Amino acid sequence: MIAREVSSHPVVDTVAGTASVVTLTGVGPAFGASLARLGLARVQDLWFHLPLRYEDKTRISAIADLRAGEPAQVVGVVEAVERGFRHRPQLKVAIAGVGGQTLLLRFFHFNRAQAEQLRQGTRLLCYGDVRQGIHGLEMVHPHYRRLSENEPVVVDEALSPVYPTTEGLGQKRLAGVVGKALALLPPTRALELIPDRLCEAHGLSSLREALLYVHRPPADAALGPLIRGEHPAQQRLAFEELLAHHLSLRRLRAAVRHHRAPRLAVDGDLASRLLGGLSFELTAAQQRVRREVAGDLAQSSPMLRLVQGDVGSGKTIVAALAALAAVEAGCQVALVAPTELLAEQHLHNFRHWLQPLGVEVEWLAGKVTGKARQRAVARVAAGAPVVIGTHALMQEGVVFAQLGLVIVDEQHRFGVQQRLALRDKGVGRVDGLVPHQLVLTATPIPRTLAMSAYADLDVSSIDELPPGRTPVQTVAITNARRAEVIARIRAACGEGRQVYWVCTLIEESEQLRAQAAEVAYAELCAGLTGFAVGLIHGRMKAKQKQAVMDAFKAGELSVLVATTVIEVGVDVPNASLMVIENSERLGLAQLHQLRGRVGRGAIASNCVLLYQPPLGQLARERLAVMRETGDGFRIAERDLQLRGPGEVLGTRQTGDLTFRIADLARDAHLLPAVQQVAERMLADYPTQAGQLIERWIGAASRYAQA
Ligand code: ADP
Ligand code: MG
Repeated sequence: MIAREVSSHPVVDTVAGTASVVTLTGVGPAFGASLARLGLARVQDLWFHLPLRYEDKTRISAIADLRAGEPAQVVGVVEAVERGFRHRPQLKVAIAGVGGQTLLLRFFHFNRAQAEQLRQGTRLLCYGDVRQGIHGLEMVHPHYRRLSENEPVVVDEALSPVYPTTEGLGQKRLAGVVGKALALLPPTRALELIPDRLCEAHGLSSLREALLYVHRPPADAALGPLIRGEHPAQQRLAFEELLAHHLSLRRLRAAVRHHRAPRLAVDGDLASRLLGGLSFELTAAQQRVRREVAGDLAQSSPMLRLVQGDVGSGKTIVAALAALAAVEAGCQVALVAPTELLAEQHLHNFRHWLQPLGVEVEWLAGKVTGKARQRAVARVAAGAPVVIGTHALMQEGVVFAQLGLVIVDEQHRFGVQQRLALRDKGVGRVDGLVPHQLVLTATPIPRTLAMSAYADLDVSSIDELPPGRTPVQTVAITNARRAEVIARIRAACGEGRQVYWVCTLIEESEQLRAQAAEVAYAELCAGLTGFAVGLIHGRMKAKQKQAVMDAFKAGELSVLVATTVIEVGVDVPNASLMVIENSERLGLAQLHQLRGRVGRGAIASNCVLLYQPPLGQLARERLAVMRETGDGFRIAERDLQLRGPGEVLGTRQTGDLTFRIADLARDAHLLPAVQQVAERMLADYPTQAGQLIERWIGAASRYAQA
């Protein structure tokens, strides 16, 4: 039965699909090289090089009808031109429509010829995204074409696809070569890799038709669904792409699980001594997760587990207990954190907990250099039991004697590949054992998303906060009332409370961020005479940062002005007021993380979200969510709805899991079926599963062969 079905699905038409792109007419070596930069080597790669979006140039909008946030095509006559040369050149062109309403076109990059073409009286056809500027609506770098005085305006008949491209390769040329490749699409369902009966069971339509539709939407296509990515043709392709990603993560997991790992027992002597010395009892949720981890560690195949828990839920102690299991068995533990400051926090906690038990903790961050680094690396090679650091740990030259457990904090900032690099450090050392992996994340992930984005991991949730925490009262206040906020800080400091002031300007460099923090620092020093104010930012040396943090922890500083370096990991229970500047610029996940720095003790805590009006719709909603709830899971769900999974998953999604057409938030409803089809294909159609991964993920799929 199965054999017959397999044979009814011949491999993709080999002649046309696997031929090199240079076999297409008009594609020479240079063009071929541009295509190669986009990962497009074979004709079939072009079939699956899907439009990122569509531009609707099928109609002209009146300037009066434009709305910020929506792309539009308009016709207007240049009324005024202004060139500014302050920090960088800028060309501002005001155009007027038939009704006299004006729109500003803004160019940051332009040449002299272009500037001279855009003279007063010139008639332009423009297409671009409309945004809210200071003086009204504007378009930044619109596409435009000059029209002669009586030239009739011709609009497109169908939506134009916009493809991902590379320097020097225009949309027209790319669309042309895609068109040539599409002419070679096999005429039958020979393209199909998902077995017939699974297609039927899940109502999947023809892949060939779907490809033709998304590359060349017909003139009568319904524009709305296509622009939103909800057209059945797009959904058909999104399904297959999600399936390919899911399959690749499942295979990755299967490959890792195939290795052997050291069996570790978690209820050893060291663990009970640590627990006995703690000033608190584990919560029920911590105990449950600890048991789940213990169950994995006791196996001879590697653990692959994600522990998610809200900020302050107590993930660190659970990780420390797992670490002791490895140490007790004579294995090494590596703990990796995404930032130096967070790694330092862990170092501090682990030393505090483990040194009394006679377990040394090694420090290996990027800033450890020269002789100190050589000595640390030598101790790691000689078997130092616990090693904590940043990704410097994953660099070449760091070799472990016998790595038994890898703990990765804040997984969403690392990619699957980086995790594999660390795992490889254990491979082939002693008896070919690979380490167990424990991943910690403070970004709660909605269940459906977790099952797909983390299909290579089992998931545990610490869904309870330690007792005695008081919810943080949150208010949003406009920047115009800054003086009141400073008065409030003064009052809080007067009561012996400690305060964080976070500067969140999203500047392009650490230097500019540091400058912004210096300005706020000066302002607060002036406004809070009599109280000690400290400053911490990413440009300071690790020692300086540590000194400031220590002073704040010891209560010697009343106020700590910081850039978002304090986002994760800082723990000062007496800090009970958090002021976040320019809060409108941050995503929900980051705001939630920052706010999590207060409300850690029994004292009632407050959070002030300072914002710069006018607020956009999205920012308004985000601040409203922050005022309404402190529940990380609810915040993550809203985040997913508001911003999409990029925000929720961070680089995990935007880094090594970029999708061509799927969108995890929009297409979450497909995931249950994707998971079912994936299970069936892995079990019964492994060859097609491999081909699907290859088709959609290509070169990256080699990681699935691990
Ligand atoms: P996160 O999950 O955000 O990493 P931490 O592990 O840093 O949280 O824990 C936050 C604080 O709560 C720490 O000071 C930690 O010692 C403390 N803590 C952890 N578990 C408990 C518990 N069961 N009862 C009381 N305090 C706890
Ligand atoms: Mg933590």
